[in-house]
Amino acid sequence: MRIGHGFDVHRFSDDPSRALWLGLNRVEGPGLDGHSDADVVAHALADALLGAAGLGDLGTHFPNSDVRWLGVASREILTLVTAKLEDASWRLVNADVTVVAEQPRLAPHRIAMEAALSEVVGAPVTLKATTSEGLGFTGRGEGIAAFAVCIVEERI
Ligand code: MG
Repeated sequence: MRIGHGFDVHRFSDDPSRALWLGLNRVEGPGLDGHSDADVVAHALADALLGAAGLGDLGTHFPNSDVRWLGVASREILTLVTAKLEDASWRLVNADVTVVAEQPRLAPHRIAMEAALSEVVGAPVTLKATTSEGLGFTGRGEGIAAFAVCIVEERI
């Protein structure tokens, strides 16, 4: 059994046409900047999975210098990472994610995000949201951060 941890941050975009994607769900609010769809929740989770399996990090597998991943949906990233774990004979036991955002309110989306993430990775994913009490970059509403932990076990 092994543990993994992931962390990601994306800043809010100046482009009003960008959609906000969080936990594989379209959420109302200003979009985040990024090479992909900038889903910090999915990215933190994917990094936790890779870390637990000792498979490097998201930047290695999906470099933002590679046009192949330009605008890619995080559902695809998470699907590919899940397949990499399976190829390496690891099975996800569960994962837990904390999102740090002043806005938007995520409580109304929590169940849908947990369901979408759990379905793609094939194991329970729980999600909590918090603010940073107005402190720091998340508190100033400059971006959103996410932390994820997970446990994987060897497939026998
Ligand atoms: Mg990211």
